[in-house]
Amino acid sequence: MDFESAGKRTRYIVDKYDFYFKKRFGQNFLIDDRVLDKIIDASAVGKEDTVLEIGPGIGTLTERLLKKAKRVIAVEIDRDLSGILKETLSEYDNLVLINEDIMKVDMAELSREYNEGRPFKIIANLPYYITTPIIMGIFESGAPVKDMTVMVQKEVAERMEALPGSKDYGALSLAVYYYAKPYLAARVPRNCFMPRPNVDSAVIKLTVYDERPVDVKDERLMFSIIRAVFNQRRKTMINSISGSKDLSFTKDEIKEVLRKAGFNEDIRGEKLTLSEFAKISDILSQ
Ligand code: SAM
Repeated sequence: MDFESAGKRTRYIVDKYDFYFKKRFGQNFLIDDRVLDKIIDASAVGKEDTVLEIGPGIGTLTERLLKKAKRVIAVEIDRDLSGILKETLSEYDNLVLINEDIMKVDMAELSREYNEGRPFKIIANLPYYITTPIIMGIFESGAPVKDMTVMVQKEVAERMEALPGSKDYGALSLAVYYYAKPYLAARVPRNCFMPRPNVDSAVIKLTVYDERPVDVKDERLMFSIIRAVFNQRRKTMINSISGSKDLSFTKDEIKEVLRKAGFNEDIRGEKLTLSEFAKISDILSQ
């Protein structure tokens, strides 16, 4: 069925199937056509792409993706929605619908089964209660993903693309920079969703690097240092690293490392770039 607008489509389906929204699954459906167009444009999806959509919901974005992409694999946790999607999107033969928790899905396996082992584009209006675990899980597992164009809470998008020294800069910004190039594609007010959430949102595109932008000997050590520094961002690096439960360096050792790396003793982590953290981590790992 063709609908005049995403809002009308959503209302029709919610009423027809007597669907009730489940807060625990972060169900806020996008009802603004211009925002849907912006997501599609930012993703640059085309007929050669296989898309992995996380949380298709009532299928508004899914239907647009089905018209643009070669294939859409949609993973939805809510069994009620899976049933609705099966019926409402039955005319499309390029949809693979999987009723599962995305955190339990093996993306490498999905890519072998449905995309000849090649990387997906991820396009999604993410459930906000697990945005960071989903994105970091994809990065850290090395899942076959080309890029992700995702709707996230506005504050999370701002942290992802924050620059050194700004108030939003932190462990999430550095983790994103290590794996991908961020681009904030749109800011989205809360009235573009049904039901209306308590926060504003933003669409961010993360293009995964083929090669990491910095070389670091011990990735885990670098991220432990980063976490220690930003868990206590008001402290000097010497105090935050030496005080961390996950690390076992003395103040004198850190002082010596900072000297070797060319930093002052009273430096704080807030202004350091990813390559400076890599440099400190490499000297500490020796
Ligand atoms: N894509 C739809 C849209 O734009 O209107 C719905 C987006 S809504 C913010 C998030 C969707 O993710 C919901 O449909 C929810 O049921 C689903 N979801 C929540 N947790 C999930 C999980 N762990 N795995 C897969 N889907 C999940």
